[in-house]
Amino acid sequence: MTESYPQSYYAGSRHETAPFAPLDGDTQADVAIIGGGFTGVATALELAERGVSVVLVEANRIGWGATGRNGGQITGSLSGDAAMLREFSKVLGPEAAERFVWDLRWRGHDIIRARVARYGIDCDLKDGHLHAAWKASHLPELEAMHRLACTRGMEDQVTLLRGEEVQQAVGCDLYVGGLLNRRNMHVHSLNLCLGEAEAARSLGARLHEGTRALDIEEGDSPVVITDRGRIRAGRVLLAGNAYHRLAGRRLAGLLFPATLGVVATDPLPEALARQVIPMDIGVYDTRFVLDYYRLTADRRLLFGGGTNYTGRDLGDVAGQLRPAIERTFPALRGIGIPLAWQGTAGITLNRIPQLGTLSNRIFYAQGYSGHGIATTHIVGEIMAQALTGRSRDFEVFSKAHQWRLPVGRRMGNLMLALGMWYFQKREAWR
Ligand SMILES: Cc1cc2nc3c(=O)[nH]c(=O)nc-3n(C[C@H](O)[C@H](O)[C@H](O)COP(=O)(O)OP(=O)(O)OC[C@H]3O[C@@H](n4cnc5c(N)ncnc54)[C@H](O)[C@@H]3O)c2cc1C
Repeated sequence: MTESYPQSYYAGSRHETAPFAPLDGDTQADVAIIGGGFTGVATALELAERGVSVVLVEANRIGWGATGRNGGQITGSLSGDAAMLREFSKVLGPEAAERFVWDLRWRGHDIIRARVARYGIDCDLKDGHLHAAWKASHLPELEAMHRLACTRGMEDQVTLLRGEEVQQAVGCDLYVGGLLNRRNMHVHSLNLCLGEAEAARSLGARLHEGTRALDIEEGDSPVVITDRGRIRAGRVLLAGNAYHRLAGRRLAGLLFPATLGVVATDPLPEALARQVIPMDIGVYDTRFVLDYYRLTADRRLLFGGGTNYTGRDLGDVAGQLRPAIERTFPALRGIGIPLAWQGTAGITLNRIPQLGTLSNRIFYAQGYSGHGIATTHIVGEIMAQALTGRSRDFEVFSKAHQWRLPVGRRMGNLMLALGMWYFQKREAWR
């Protein structure tokens, strides 16, 4: 059954597009893509820009999944960077791996900026982000990141804030320091995705909402069976991330759905908004399970926090996040929270995104562990290369060891939740 957008700030303020009508009947294309979130749409756009014929099917609406429900923060904090360095060094050697991972941190930002400018996408893209230190023992990590950024030529874009200096950026006295990064950004994630989908359509890509892929027939030209027809394609990309159930056995034990909640408050008066986040930047803190927040274009505080690694429904998201909002900003005590929603992110065990093949013509890309806006755009570029020829970057990712739990999804999620609980407790003791 096709689902409409869940009630959220993003759904309520999205730009209307002409319909992406369901696919009825049979068709063919060079590439078929399953899933219309950032992974699928960014790849479709890359392919359309290269003149490749592409059909994308989305079971619900474009950006219906994590893409249209997230915190909107575009940061260079790659999830799994330490594991990436270790794994990629095996293929590239340590020095090249370090350069590769550093470039990966920022490549997604450049792609997004260029797209927004080129296609005139109206998505409230704004510069600036603060990584706020929760306690003194978290500062050395930020200092190390600051040093590294400076040695890589970013000294004009990063500033280390200490003690009360943080309050120039965010009106909150919980933090002991922070790393201000002007290269990072925040965005209306759903409008970015819809704008990219429109851009892909304008270049000839065929995008169909309300069309669920049910199965993939393998072969020299694989066939995607949908609930309304069939797509014969040269290659197929599975981009359903945490929301799909295809290729069950071969992808089993690799990716685990985690549920995250986000709320948006009533719009704040201008002066209060300036008091809360004077620099109008995105913010998240240094804890393992962190709070993340920013202002929207209509001055709501959009606030996310907590992760349920069992993948279960969160229940009353507004009730759960209100104490964190009021602890962060006592001036918002009692603020109305009319919008609360939840979304599912795909978590990988070593936090490295999973790029691979199920056969020589069927590819998959998934698992950004909660840091996917920039990464999906990098992945879109890499997958477009891999789907149309050879890609060194795809090989580097696909050779990285992917940890697999030899248990079902439910048991895997319970084990993951237990592991995360341990890390949270360990952090609290330090
Ligand atoms: C609450 C929340 C907050 C987040 N905050 C941030 C943040 O601030 N910054 C950041 O960088 N990242 C954040 N993330 C992560 C980021 O949103 C994701 O990594 C990213 O959007 C993943 O995009 P995707 O296209 O791979 O998956 P999704 O956006 O989940 O899209 C998958 C799509 O595939 C479709 N689909 C599934 N199965 C089928 C099928 N059989 N046939 C057809 N279609 C199918 C689904 O309907 C869905 O639309 C957050 C995630 C969540 C859930």
